[in-house]
Amino acid sequence: MVGNRSSSSLKTRFNQLLDCLYPHICIGCGEIGTALCERCMQGCAQELRVLTVDWGVVESGYSYDYPLIQQVVHALKEQGLPRAAAELVARCGYSLKPGTCFIPVPIARKRLVARGYNQSEVLAMELAGQCNGFVARHALIRVGSSQQRGKARNERLAANLSIRRGLPIPHAAPEYVLVDDVITTGTTLATCAQLLQEGGIKVSRGVTLAFAP
Ligand SMILES: [Zn+2]
Repeated sequence: MVGNRSSSSLKTRFNQLLDCLYPHICIGCGEIGTALCERCMQGCAQELRVLTVDWGVVESGYSYDYPLIQQVVHALKEQGLPRAAAELVARCGYSLKPGTCFIPVPIARKRLVARGYNQSEVLAMELAGQCNGFVARHALIRVGSSQQRGKARNERLAANLSIRRGLPIPHAAPEYVLVDDVITTGTTLATCAQLLQEGGIKVSRGVTLAFAP
């Protein structure tokens, strides 16, 4: 299945869905009425970083060093509260071409079931909504077990990535952009880019909400 074409109306519906599903309590200060209040939002010092990698560039909006960013990522990945992260990624100011295809880094099925969503897909949806782009949510998958002894965690995760047979991505997008929540070593994004390149999709850009120095 080709990823959903997003539009501003889809973004609106998506935000409405988030509004219904998740309470509006500021992650930073507990203020009721917003997932991340304006005061806390201002406190998340943006440090847009452009990291040059051997397959392209990765742009990240915020340093993971900041406790509030850690709280936002924790809420996104562990507490089922993705809205603050979605609002922050919307403020990153990435230069997005209209019609861009966003490809979220996949998570293991077990985690997807437990979490109820792929956090990278939530961020990709937000970005797609900003540029009338779309999300190829089934392009990459996690396969096999992550229980491989003797390897670093990021290497195990990267080793379990695979491209979906029949690669469900249209070939007409002006740009293909990988999306992840946090970049640490960059191994996972590099593996995703390589898999897509082998599938005939040229990916030379990735965006993440945060970077871990
Ligand atoms: Zn607040």
